[in-house]
Amino acid sequence: MAERRWVKLFDEGSKEQRDLLGGKGAGLAEMTRIGLPVPPGFTVTTEACNAYFASGHRFPDGMWDEVLDAMGHVESQLGRRFGDPAHPLLMSVRSGAKFSMPGMMDTVLNLGLNDESIDGLIEKSGDEHFAYDAYRRLIQMFGDVVLGVDHQKFEDLLHERREANGVTSDAELPVEELKGIVNCFKGIIADEPEVAFPQDPKEQLEMAIEAVFSSWNIKRARDYREYHGIPHDLGTAVNIQAMVFGNTGDDSASGVAFTRNPATGETGIYGEYLRNAQGEDVVAGIRTPQPVDRLKDELPAAYDELVETCQTLEAHYKEMQDLEFTVEHEKFWVLQTRAGKRTAKAAVVIAVDMVDEGLIDRETAVQRVTPGQIEKLLHPRFEADAVEAAESDGRFLAKGLNASPGAAVGKAVFDADTAEEMGKNGESVILARPETTPDDVHGFLQCEGVLTQHGGMTSHAAIVSRSLGKPAVVGCEAIAIDLDAEQLTVNGTVIEKGDPIAIDGTSGKVYRGELPTVVPKLEEEHELTKLLGWSDEFRTLGVRANADYPADAKRARNFGAEGVGLCRTEHMFFEEDRLPIVREMILSEEKTDRVAALEKLLPMQREDFKGLLETMAGQSVIIRLIDPPLHEFLPNYEELVKELAEIHAQGKQDPEKEQLLKAVERMREANPMLGLRGVRLGMLYPEILEMQTRAILEAAGELETEGLEVHPEIMIPLVAHPHELEIVKARLEDVAQNVEGEHGVAIKYQFGTMIELPRACVVADRIAESAEFFSFGTNDLTQTTFGISRDDAQGTFLARYHEDGVFDDPFVSIDQDGVGELMRIAVEKGKAARSGIEIGICGEHGGDPASIEFCYGLGLDYVSCSPFRVPVARLAAAQAALGHVERDV
Ligand code: PEP
Ligand code: MG
Repeated sequence: MAERRWVKLFDEGSKEQRDLLGGKGAGLAEMTRIGLPVPPGFTVTTEACNAYFASGHRFPDGMWDEVLDAMGHVESQLGRRFGDPAHPLLMSVRSGAKFSMPGMMDTVLNLGLNDESIDGLIEKSGDEHFAYDAYRRLIQMFGDVVLGVDHQKFEDLLHERREANGVTSDAELPVEELKGIVNCFKGIIADEPEVAFPQDPKEQLEMAIEAVFSSWNIKRARDYREYHGIPHDLGTAVNIQAMVFGNTGDDSASGVAFTRNPATGETGIYGEYLRNAQGEDVVAGIRTPQPVDRLKDELPAAYDELVETCQTLEAHYKEMQDLEFTVEHEKFWVLQTRAGKRTAKAAVVIAVDMVDEGLIDRETAVQRVTPGQIEKLLHPRFEADAVEAAESDGRFLAKGLNASPGAAVGKAVFDADTAEEMGKNGESVILARPETTPDDVHGFLQCEGVLTQHGGMTSHAAIVSRSLGKPAVVGCEAIAIDLDAEQLTVNGTVIEKGDPIAIDGTSGKVYRGELPTVVPKLEEEHELTKLLGWSDEFRTLGVRANADYPADAKRARNFGAEGVGLCRTEHMFFEEDRLPIVREMILSEEKTDRVAALEKLLPMQREDFKGLLETMAGQSVIIRLIDPPLHEFLPNYEELVKELAEIHAQGKQDPEKEQLLKAVERMREANPMLGLRGVRLGMLYPEILEMQTRAILEAAGELETEGLEVHPEIMIPLVAHPHELEIVKARLEDVAQNVEGEHGVAIKYQFGTMIELPRACVVADRIAESAEFFSFGTNDLTQTTFGISRDDAQGTFLARYHEDGVFDDPFVSIDQDGVGELMRIAVEKGKAARSGIEIGICGEHGGDPASIEFCYGLGLDYVSCSPFRVPVARLAAAQAALGHVERDV
């Protein structure tokens, strides 16, 4: 046949063709190319899948002929024929999209078997049990996946037959039972209207390919893609491959292996296998598999080949691999390889170790870890004292396998729908199941952690939890979960639905009740410290922190912040000892009274700033002058009215409250977000800004006298018009001169502004005439550009917009086309008017990896984010400089 358009034989592709062949297909092609023992086969491309959807669920022209032609190649390679009743060649059909979607789509095994060829298989294998088990599996999978028969019907029957025979696994069922089960399975399908199990192998193949194509669009696959931001239009490839069997006796096995430990990153092969079993048995977690080290004793030749294959794959891919293997009568086969999913901890350890081993360079290491993984690494764990107390007072329940690290606390729930519902309502839940299946994924997405009774480290629950970064304890056999009663029992303790439990995915322990959590210290994470150190070498974008108090600033500095990008001074006004003075200041009708109140605040603010500047000595600290409308410091209007009504109802008076109410009424605004706030307050009440400026500069002066180098930057918020800044700045410069005169020191400070209104962006050149620095307040800039009030919109229509694909929440990641365009104008104009002007961002987008990449592209000097996100920003900034910020897919 001429050039194939829709189908590629394994030896025709390579690892670069993930778009076309999907991840699995590209891996099979590459392994075939480098000479690893891969059963022969071919891949129907993602383009064929998309063409199938585009033409209303019809195979594209020529595709089926190409499939048959490729089958011919496989047949001649193996010397067997698909559909040959005497010596049947059996095939598997598996999905495989560009991005790994574990267990999300469908697979059918043993295609080619029918009522006739079963005899050929018995004859050739000499194993009737094996042959009927294979046929049983085909009918079951075909019925479920291709014909859409409820899989529980098959499972129930199997369960019943196992019980009747007093066995725990299907492998132990006697052959006569298997024959009966095959007949019953056929009966289950025959009872369904409009479907039939096809005896013709080619028809089986055709229908299986269609089913795999269609599985791209089933709910759980769509949910998974939605969550991971994987586009819906990529389509899946279909891999059609000769079957090899791990269930042909004790000299056969199936297993999965990671070239390094996916939980901790430690070197050495890590994996599990089951003797006399098919791969599905290992992943399903029904029988508990053996650690891969045991294979050394049980099947030594196969073990050696596994080790060699792992080494070859790592050296070739220069990446930790996750592979599936099968041993058929002692012959080793590799069925899949892909970059192994790993915990955040393992990602960092592996990246750093591989540099030390000379396998990859530092740039690659920095690009191997996603910003989201850094965030997870600093995830909470239980307080050691609380764990000890819980253990000594009998709240320890059981220990399972530590499948995905991190600590989680929540109400126990026993089904995914409830987990989803409660999770969406803001409740913390732990999803507890006997074992999980892909149908439970929507529950995973909304829960805090996962607990299963059965299954190993490579069970569905373990893999999905790790990929989502959710803590999980699996295979916790000491607990008994009763789904009907919605409870779990451990040694007589009963946990009902809704009772709080705590799970530790790092230790595998489960506790009754709640446990307090702590956040890890970066300095104790040696590999992470190293990786972030390399990130700092590559990045050009500075990273500062939004910190109001010295403790926040200290944490930020420990996390690697190079300054404070935003100190919101008004937060200090809310403190218990200050609020009465702040109110006194606000309620003053005369300026002299206001100034008197401000004088009381001055020493307090001076101490605040001294602490902050001292903590960040040697680095810039941007202190923003008061921003929110003053009524935010006063009691709530509605509450005051109610309280006074009650007082009046009792025939009493409260003049103080009445005066307060008058003031609150006076200051009420219809749209406070757009009202008297920011620089506008400074225009009307300059004495507030003067006090704050004096406090900052006096603090700086005192510290400089003590020999510290400090760099305060005074920032005016919400400027829309250059005149606002000019006027306020002139006043504050007078204050600065006075302070310098009084202290006899020259203080290094700068005046600048936030750019957080569209008008400010457009006239940024004029503003830059008085501003020595700009900081984008993208929270307000997004609100005012969209005309959307964040507080009102996030809980209502923005979530809906996201679901309907209108647009994504612009408060999470910068809206590059709109808000971003305004930023671009401001940067250009600002730089043109004042060369060397310092420009940064302090809105919450400063900690968002995609926004960081955008800010890098705009040529900003730094991003500023919350202290906890500083390590994330360091990595994202390095990746931006290296060309691409990794996504958490
Ligand atoms: C902003 O608007 O982005 C900003 C940092 O200011 P705030 O969130 O305090 O309004
Ligand atoms: Mg703002």
